Amino acid sequence: MPEGRVYKVGWNQTSTGWRLWLLDHPRIAADVATLDDPAATEALLEPVCREFGDGEPTFTFHPPVPPAAVDAPFIARGLGLIVNHACAWIAGNVTDYFSGRVCELCLRITGERNDAALVESRPPEGDLCDRNPMDFGPVVATERFVALLSPSERDAVELRPCVRSARARRKVYEVIPKVIVPKVPVLGIPRPALRCGACGNTFFRNELPSSDMRTFIADSAIDADVPALFGVGSSQHLQLATTFTRATELAGHPHARGAGATRLGTVPPDRIDNNPAIEVRNEPWQFGLPKPLRPR
Ligand SMILES: [Zn+2]
Repeated sequence: MPEGRVYKVGWNQTSTGWRLWLLDHPRIAADVATLDDPAATEALLEPVCREFGDGEPTFTFHPPVPPAAVDAPFIARGLGLIVNHACAWIAGNVTDYFSGRVCELCLRITGERNDAALVESRPPEGDLCDRNPMDFGPVVATERFVALLSPSERDAVELRPCVRSARARRKVYEVIPKVIVPKVPVLGIPRPALRCGACGNTFFRNELPSSDMRTFIADSAIDADVPALFGVGSSQHLQLATTFTRATELAGHPHARGAGATRLGTVPPDRIDNNPAIEVRNEPWQFGLPKPLRPR
């Protein structure tokens, strides 16, 4: 069974707390005491794992949960991420698509995306994908998702056609944003951070205690004039970003199968952690990286 899919969660208040359910499978539901905690969706983990064999699901709330007070400093810009952990099946080796090489320790690809078109080995799982059998996270979109984009959104990205698999019914594009903004660590937010002793690649995760907001960029990285679409992360691992309103609208469309929207935090200069504690790791088993998916 596929793992790591995005599930849209409906919610409403009850006399004792909150009722949560999967919008696409309403019989999968749970009652929780609070919504102001990422643990709220833990009650859905077991039934989702049992029903779909998915042990690493991502949940997004629809409509979005009102932000908690602790989130306020980070949501002033009103930005959002379009997330999707569906899989695009890309053929070949990750080195076919990058200028660099694969680090022998952490197994991440280095360098920049080259000019090669992605080759599909089979049709993608969803309309918007960011995973593939390699450790590389491009944004891959079906033509019906691309059709939802406005002219200014199309102008903000390169739509590079993928080489279709023999079974494909729809055209598929790699969406390469013209602007890619790196994530930043935030002061006061606990985050396990580690650095690869061989290539220097650094991995960190921000865990805001109150909400599903996990991704933060420097406030100064985005102009007052927010690009219609931009990328967050790196050319190796990307997600699409825009305003939260637009992310919610796009992700909620039936032609955005599997996509979800979360808030994207923007961090003022005095809240960026410029000297984060980082553990350097020199053994492959220390990375605990997700296992690369294998084509079935
Ligand atoms: Zn490395």
